[in-house]
Amino acid sequence: MKKDSACLFCRIAAGEIPCRKLFEDDQILAFEDINPQAPFHALIIPKEHFPTIADIPAESDFLISRMIGVANKLAREKQLDSGYRLVINCRAGAGQEVYHVHLHLLGGRKFHWPPG
Ligand code: 5GP
Ligand code: ZN
Repeated sequence: MKKDSACLFCRIAAGEIPCRKLFEDDQILAFEDINPQAPFHALIIPKEHFPTIADIPAESDFLISRMIGVANKLAREKQLDSGYRLVINCRAGAGQEVYHVHLHLLGGRKFHWPPG
């Protein structure tokens, strides 16, 4: 499994930096965003290091569906029944700041379209 010792989310996945954990198994970690943009804001990451969603090779595509599956499970648990938003920012032009792929799960308020 690829890791980058300088990567913030690799360090969170390794337990070197604390987080408020919501879900964990051998492949996936979910935790609360430190700067929430909604009443509920979680980040779902693969434990393996991929800088962006575009860097996930076809043989690891299953990690994308696993991330979405964990997001749906959290949304059910948090009773985000009126709706929630899943976001993956890819590269600087889309606002990506942390270069370890992550899925945002946002809920608990009304979301607008198009996003900013
Ligand atoms: P991006 O802009 O890359 O899509 O999202 C990065 C997210 O990571 C942001 O929502 C930001 O608040 C969150 N974040 C940055 N540093 C930390 C941290 O140390 N801990 C946690 N839990 N979230 C972080
Ligand atoms: Zn990483």
